[in-house]
Amino acid sequence: ASRERLLVVANRLPVSAVRRGVDSWHLEISVGGLVSALLGVKEFETRWIGWAGVNVPDEIGQRALIKALAEKRCIPVFLDEEIVHQYYNGYCNNILWPLFHYLGLPQEDRLATTRSFQSQFDAYKKANQMFAEVVKEHYVEGDVVWCHDYHLMFLPKCLKERNRKMKVGWFLHTPFPSSEIHRTLPSRSELLRSVLAADLVGFHTYDYARHFVSACTRILGLEGTTEGVEDQGRLTRVAAFPIGIDSDRFIRALELPQVQDHMKELKERFAGRKVMLGVDRLDMIKGIPQKILAFEKFLEENPNWRDKVVLLQIAVPTRTDVPEYQKLTSQVHEIVGRINGRFGTLTAVPIHHLDRSLDFHALCALYAVTDVALVTSLRDGMNLVSYEFVACQASKKGVLILSEFAGAAQSLGAGAILVNPWNVTEVASSIGYALNMPADEREKRHHHNFVHVTTHTSQEWAATFVSELNDTIVEAQLRT
Ligand code: UDP
Repeated sequence: ASRERLLVVANRLPVSAVRRGVDSWHLEISVGGLVSALLGVKEFETRWIGWAGVNVPDEIGQRALIKALAEKRCIPVFLDEEIVHQYYNGYCNNILWPLFHYLGLPQEDRLATTRSFQSQFDAYKKANQMFAEVVKEHYVEGDVVWCHDYHLMFLPKCLKERNRKMKVGWFLHTPFPSSEIHRTLPSRSELLRSVLAADLVGFHTYDYARHFVSACTRILGLEGTTEGVEDQGRLTRVAAFPIGIDSDRFIRALELPQVQDHMKELKERFAGRKVMLGVDRLDMIKGIPQKILAFEKFLEENPNWRDKVVLLQIAVPTRTDVPEYQKLTSQVHEIVGRINGRFGTLTAVPIHHLDRSLDFHALCALYAVTDVALVTSLRDGMNLVSYEFVACQASKKGVLILSEFAGAAQSLGAGAILVNPWNVTEVASSIGYALNMPADEREKRHHHNFVHVTTHTSQEWAATFVSELNDTIVEAQLRT
């Protein structure tokens, strides 16, 4: 039997393409939250549509890339450098990303280094049109089209304009901010209206969905209902679909000999010390300086712990060409250096800070040997790192300290210690609480979260979203 076809449209394809010659390409699976999540989607015949992350100006190169990607069920959208600059670096990363994470619209650096708002928004719309063209080209009647994230808010409208019958869902992987924040965006109405063209609009948490509905009622004057947003009798369904991970993939990985070896090495290396772990892209939203300052405060107040605990911070480089991110990198380096200078000895330092990513197996080993994971996002759509940590803790039953501003706080709140990352005093005392937690409390908390993580998987997330999308369309047909 042929499975239902799902066209997943996202800014980036789940592969990175490196050119090896005029007509030859090397493809690599790339890192990231959405990528990890959709690796778990097995129920549908999935095809990916997106940008491959490279500029391919020549037709020979394009044709070779299309062919190479087809083997991975991927279809490229070709964007030229100028569009990428204005749409991706500009409108997406410089405007929507900070705004949706409550960092506000561009000021100072960000304003100075970018062109005018309008030209970026025009490029954004143009890029979304280009995605729509590729979708249209590959669309077969009955396909479900699932658009992802803030890069493609204009896409639902483009798709429906081309084909009203297309089943279109849109899901946001970041927070959706309070309507008071969204109001400040010059293109606030146009973006809301284009998202509303979708049949189903999904968010990680109920709060984000509520913010979106409020934005539609307050800014557009539409009617918000418990089902979603109504515009002249037409309903756009709005709901929360908290994402999960493919927990089995992590649990299975821990059995592999190379992962076991790696765990053994780490245990020997840090014998006699408790291991605390942070894994984040080096982004302002992750609250890395706040986390490290809280750790410093903990060491300051607890001299007896100084040689008994180590913080391993994996800081995956991201958007490294943007001045603000470069500033953050040196700021973090400075704090880490100061603390290591202050509390280090000739043979040991309290913080191991790595500016790089780890491969999947190394990451699993690290999660498994950790005593306390520290997630201090100032804002975070969901935060999958917290889920992955829980999945790898079946034997250790370590503690998760989790920011209340991460979407994951809604689902892992009962098992984690929730903190306000801005409150360094609170985070520092939570570190002490976590390190001293008795085994029975750790077990209880871990069990709660482990059950959640292993039952609310990425497979279920995707299946629920798509079946809800189908239901929404059937109901709409019944109503007309
Ligand atoms: N990750 C990785 N290698 C690393 C560090 C992180 O593959 O060295 C992955 C991690 O497993 C997780 C994702 O990156 O799936 C980060 O997702 P999250 O939702 O926590 O944050 P995002 O980076 O999407 O904001």
